[in-house]
Amino acid sequence: MRIAMISEHASPLAVLGEEDAGGQNTHVAELAAALVGEGHDVRVYTRRDSAALADTVSTPDGYQVRHVPAGPTRRVPKDELLPFMGEFGRWLAEQWRDGDWTPDVAHAHFWMSGLATLHAGRRTGVPVVLTYHALGTVKRRHQGARDTSPPGRIGYERTLGRAADRVIVQCQDEVGELVRLGVPRSRMALVPSGVNLEMFRPDGPAEPRFAGRSRILTVGRMVERKGFPDVIRALPAVPDAECVVVGGPSADLPPADAFARRLRTLAESCGVADRVRLVGAVPREEMGRWYRSADLLVAAPWYEPFGLTPLEAMACGVPVVGTAVGGIADTVVNGLTGDLVPPRDPRALGLAIRRLLADKVRRFAYATAGLDRIRSSYSWKRAAEQLSAVYAAVTAVGRPTPAVV
Ligand code: UDP
Repeated sequence: MRIAMISEHASPLAVLGEEDAGGQNTHVAELAAALVGEGHDVRVYTRRDSAALADTVSTPDGYQVRHVPAGPTRRVPKDELLPFMGEFGRWLAEQWRDGDWTPDVAHAHFWMSGLATLHAGRRTGVPVVLTYHALGTVKRRHQGARDTSPPGRIGYERTLGRAADRVIVQCQDEVGELVRLGVPRSRMALVPSGVNLEMFRPDGPAEPRFAGRSRILTVGRMVERKGFPDVIRALPAVPDAECVVVGGPSADLPPADAFARRLRTLAESCGVADRVRLVGAVPREEMGRWYRSADLLVAAPWYEPFGLTPLEAMACGVPVVGTAVGGIADTVVNGLTGDLVPPRDPRALGLAIRRLLADKVRRFAYATAGLDRIRSSYSWKRAAEQLSAVYAAVTAVGRPTPAVV
């Protein structure tokens, strides 16, 4: 099957850990590769955000990346990309109508990609599948006035959910959010993200550690809602453990980064500065080394549409202390593969970390159960198989004659 994946701001080729580069980039890259593994012909369309990018890049994983000329050829924060989605959609429609490759199905990632893809799908008869990755309602609830989403996002998301041929949801929490938004349950298919089981495995090299100190690892983009300040506030309750924070600008830049500076100041005021280490962004291929070096992973976001880092840790045989939000509430089984605590509660977080660090047997039991869970339920192969079935179902439905542009 010919599959187009549209990911306007999140290129599968991007360096991860910066503000707008994280889980969606990984998701698109891994999913595209897994779909190729299932025998599909896959093209990923992402915005050309640098003049240095070639029109087309063929990846070693066997899928193509097409850089779409829409908006300026420089990095633009994702919340400012809406005005260019019309151009993006028109370009897609032209390619699929007049070019030599028309997809059987188009899978859009994030609501803005959904707008461009629906525009092109309506004009070419290509069915559209949508994964939101994040929802405006949730962001608004948690960020209030600090939410930088374009006005109208929630309305667009509702319309998209009703117009797309299928909505892929990643966790139970998202199902509830979308039903409340007015998206029919019958349009949804639950297909959680996977984890790369070659890259994330228990055996393999690990980053060195200081003798005698336990290591807590926390990973993610340097944005407030990832809960890094809560992890640092929890540290005084966890004596002797070192906390390694992975993510953010490249390793030589953290001192200049405003958020990283705030974390340092906070660590000083909590009296734990000597136990907090900001590593900066780490290439994806090296992430396994960091997970394997840790006694446990802390994932403490305020909210989380899915959350890949707990899966990656579990795949490396590392137990998780997470907040009971979004996808983490599905992926981490409380008391079996890790411990769940309420979000934005450094006290509860500190207690859970301290208790788990003090209990080697429990950590071992969590690690074993986590690994089992990942291998049985969260491989990308499994996700690609489930999605192939969804794509087959939407392409089997008769299409109306495409609208004349
Ligand atoms: N990541 C990485 N290097 C970094 C920081 C993060 O490769 O320095 C990866 C991490 O391994 C995970 C993704 O970025 O695959 C973050 O995904 P998650 O779902 O946790 O967060 P999101 O960015 O989607 O909010």
